[in-house]
Amino acid sequence: MAYIGIGSNLDDPVRQVKDAIEELEAIPDSVLAACSSLYSSKPMGPADQPDYVNAVAALDTLLSAEDLLQALKKIEDRQGRDRSGDKWGPRVIDLDLLLYGKKKINTEELTVPHPGMHKRDFVIIPLAEIAGNVNIPGHGQLTTLINQCVNHSLKKLITGK
Ligand code: ATP
Ligand code: CA
Ligand code: CA
Repeated sequence: MAYIGIGSNLDDPVRQVKDAIEELEAIPDSVLAACSSLYSSKPMGPADQPDYVNAVAALDTLLSAEDLLQALKKIEDRQGRDRSGDKWGPRVIDLDLLLYGKKKINTEELTVPHPGMHKRDFVIIPLAEIAGNVNIPGHGQLTTLINQCVNHSLKKLITGK
């Protein structure tokens, strides 16, 4: 199973996240297995930007991790992601490949597990909804990570299916 972190804080973020989930359903050779509730979180990095809407999806896929990342970037492009802004600046959509089964990947293009995910409340709390106490390669069990994580600002907006 692959897990994908979804975030948006521009141009009707709830709609952007829902649109991205629909796009994930359409990725070839893949089935959207589950989707978390939608959450709101305070921005990381520059604070002078709107709050984020976040969710995590589970995708059962035959694509390689590299091809899946390309598919995610295509969806970001179709939703109008502007890549010219500041690091961690506002964006219409951000799709991060969090986990790809039990694999560890470290190439120029792709790091899996996604770096930093284990410390981000807006990733690990929605992930736990759909992945239970999954192991995060290199970081341990999800439940332990959640217990160690400070919940800065996360609020549930829309309960998932
Ligand atoms: P962060 O990665 O800290 O959440 P970000 O999402 O704002 O920050 P981006 O600008 O969206 O960062 O991505 C920068 C690059 O990260 C992408 O071009 C992509 O090739 C690379 N990348 C490496 N590993 C991953 C991954 N697991 N998922 C998504 N992108 C990744
Ligand atoms: Ca990100
Ligand atoms: Ca990203």
